[in-house]
Amino acid sequence: MASTNNMFKYQLEKKQPRTGPGGITRGASVNDFPASKGLAGVSMRLEPGAIRELHWHANAAEWAYVVAGRMRTTIVHPDGKTYIDHFSAGDVWYFPKGYGHVLQCIGTEECHFILIFDNGDFSEDHTFSITDFISSVPKEVAARNLNLSTEEVGQLYQGEAYFAQCAVPGFSNHLATPRAEAELVSMHRYPLAAQQPRVFQGGTQRVVTAKEFPIAQTISGSLLEIEPGAMREMHWHPNADEWQYYLEGHAEMGVFLAEGNIVVDQYEAGDVGYVPMGAGHYIKNTGDTVLKVLIGFNSGQYQAIDLSSWLAGNPQDILQGNFHASAAITEQFPKEQSVITGSKA
Ligand code: MN
Ligand code: MN
Repeated sequence: MASTNNMFKYQLEKKQPRTGPGGITRGASVNDFPASKGLAGVSMRLEPGAIRELHWHANAAEWAYVVAGRMRTTIVHPDGKTYIDHFSAGDVWYFPKGYGHVLQCIGTEECHFILIFDNGDFSEDHTFSITDFISSVPKEVAARNLNLSTEEVGQLYQGEAYFAQCAVPGFSNHLATPRAEAELVSMHRYPLAAQQPRVFQGGTQRVVTAKEFPIAQTISGSLLEIEPGAMREMHWHPNADEWQYYLEGHAEMGVFLAEGNIVVDQYEAGDVGYVPMGAGHYIKNTGDTVLKVLIGFNSGQYQAIDLSSWLAGNPQDILQGNFHASAAITEQFPKEQSVITGSKA
């Protein structure tokens, strides 16, 4: 199937970025990556102090994972309350569709974070920004709303700032230690990397859903660590599309589309993968280091059907007849759920 080569792979970190004062962003919407109809994603970097300006999105909620650095966000709710949160590497945030928010890198090192949106049509280049809103309305309207004269309104940033350089907040050096922060869960913050993982023969899995993180009603996430030679077993998701960002290592991912169609590709750090809802797939570590994959699903619930569970739950006579195989063969099939299978010793 030559025509489907790279159908489910997008090399996000090789894309030409959009840059601005203190910020770099690379995004993949369905326009860049046609398979990704249900989810879109962005890889963004901010220098210390820099912000992704106050903005909102009309058509998508935002789920994020901090790869490196320390961040501060603010978000306003429809009841008028504003929430301020602080994040370290391994933390997740979730902002409902339409709520105004800002992202800032604090501390001394560059921040890198992955944003996942529950709409493939979402583009970070077409958001509603505060500077754009205020400089687009009649000057007299802006003046009345900001308590300024029209001359003073004219001194504000005209157009869309998108990124802006701010001072590094003085308090950032006095924040609690990462250890103490890891224990903190707030309305918009979930420390995913600090979660006790499910441990399997060939690796670990962390999952955050609306159950652990109630605000995240439309997106759940997962962090997979797969040992060399091991693999996330053949499975599918009945309720959600899957958007993957390869954080570390090398992988092979195969997506099964029925009627003999399978799309197999090789992935490395910085690549994005996509699996449509219900399509069978596996992720194999093909390198000699641990494979780390960040995954977002466009549902607040996590559901997976794993091949091992399915086989383990069916009577031997059915398996023998179904595969035209003897008992000597089918009795070797998995007897329990495996999720991440170890390397064949
Ligand atoms: Mn946003
Ligand atoms: Mn999956």
